[in-house]
Amino acid sequence: MQPHEYAPESLMMSYGYKPELSEGAIKCPIFQTSTFVFKTAEDGKAFFEIAYGKRQKQAGEEPGLIYSRINNPDLEILEDRLALWDRAEKAAVFESGMSAISTVLMEFLTPGQVVLYSTPVYGGTHHFMNHVLQKFGITAVSFDVGASDAEIETIIQANGPGRLGMIYIETPANPTNALIDMAMCARIAQRHSTDGRRVVTAVDNTYMGPLWQHPLAHGADLVIYSATKYIGGHSDVIAGAVLGHAADIQKIKVLRTFLGNMCSPHTGWLLLRSLETLKVRMEQQQANAVQVAAFLQSHPKVEKVYYLGLLDAEKDTAQYAIYKSQCLGSGAMVSFDVKGGEAEAFRFLNHLRLTKLAVSLGGTESLAEHPATMTHTDIPDAEKDRIGISEKLIRLSVGIEHYNDIIHDVQQALEYV
Ligand SMILES: *Cc1c(COP(=O)(O)O)cnc(C)c1O
Repeated sequence: MQPHEYAPESLMMSYGYKPELSEGAIKCPIFQTSTFVFKTAEDGKAFFEIAYGKRQKQAGEEPGLIYSRINNPDLEILEDRLALWDRAEKAAVFESGMSAISTVLMEFLTPGQVVLYSTPVYGGTHHFMNHVLQKFGITAVSFDVGASDAEIETIIQANGPGRLGMIYIETPANPTNALIDMAMCARIAQRHSTDGRRVVTAVDNTYMGPLWQHPLAHGADLVIYSATKYIGGHSDVIAGAVLGHAADIQKIKVLRTFLGNMCSPHTGWLLLRSLETLKVRMEQQQANAVQVAAFLQSHPKVEKVYYLGLLDAEKDTAQYAIYKSQCLGSGAMVSFDVKGGEAEAFRFLNHLRLTKLAVSLGGTESLAEHPATMTHTDIPDAEKDRIGISEKLIRLSVGIEHYNDIIHDVQQALEYV
C-alpha cells in the first residue's frame, strides 16, 4: 500500500494523544496541575535548558513537562493539532488573540523599527501598535487594502527603508472583505530583508482560517489567530494562537513563558473539543453564508453586499485574481449596506430575533453588528469613508442554524428598514 496521509479532520480526535499515558481515557483529560514531577534532577536541568532557550533541542530529544506556564499536555496536544491545518512546523497557544498578536509584535520588533500594517486591522491590534509599541520607540505605519507593490514601496521609502521590521496584514479586511495579496507582501518583506535584519511577514488569519486560507503556503512567516472565533467556534472561550517555523515559534514560546500569557489547561481542553467539529462547522457556516449573501443581493432594501463568494461575478478584477490565488472558500462573514443610514441600520439590528446583536464572530450562532459605531468606532471618519465603513453597513457572522431560518430572520428585520 502507498503511504497514506490523513486529512486534518481525521486526526482531530486522536493526534498527539496517547491513551496509555492517561489510564486508557479515550479523551485527553484536563491536566489541571501547576507543576510536573521530574524523574531525576538531570531531567529537570535538561528541560529548563530548552524551555529557557539556553540551547537547542538535540535530535530526538523530547522537551519534558515542567510547569504549566511553560508547557502542559492539553496545550501541547492542541498546538500539534492546530499546526496540521496550516501545515505549520509548530504552534503556540495563548490566553487571547490579543496576547498572540502582542507577543508576536514584541518578539520580532525592536526600538527604532517600523511595523507596516494593512488598514483596517482589528481595533485591538491598531491600538497596541499605535499606543503601546510607540512607548517602546516602534513606529506603526499603515497602507490601505488595495495598495499596489509600488504604493507600499513608496510608504516604506518615506519611513526609512532600513527601519522596516515587520509587515503585518489582515485579509480579508474586516468588515468589508477586501483582500490583500499575501504573496506580494511576503515578496516585499523579502526584498527588504538583509543579513542583519529579517523583515517578518505576519498574517492575522482569524476570518478565514484555518480552513479556507493558509498564509504560510503564500510566503508568510507567521499565522495568527483569535481562537475565540472559528477555532473555538461556540462563543464560550477567549484564546489565541500563532503558527510558523519551529525556530520562530520557539522564540515566541520563550517570551510567552515570561509574559505568562499562555492559555489555561481548561481553555486548551475546550479548544481540543472544538477542533473535532471545526471542519463541519465551518463548512456549514460557509454554505449558509452563500445562501444569505444571495438573498441579500436580491433584496430591494439592500444597496450593496460584501461577500467573497460574489467575486465570482467580477472575474476581470484584481480582487478576483487574489481571491482565486489565495482563498480556498468564500467564508462565512457577510457585510451589507442597507438603503439609508444609521437609523435604518439600527432598525434592522433592533428587529432581529434569531440572530443576536453582538460583536465577535465565527461561533455556531449567527451574530450581527454595526461596525461604524461598534467594532470600528475608533477609526477616524475620513479613514472610515476611505475604506467603506459607512453608517449603513451591517456585519453578519453566519452560524449553523438552518439557512431558511436565518434568511427569514433577516427578511423580517429588513421590513422595518
Ligand atoms: C477577535 C479578533 C482579534 C482579537 O482576539 P481576542 O481573542 O478577542 O483577543 C484579533 N484579530 C481579529 C481579526 C479578530 O477578529
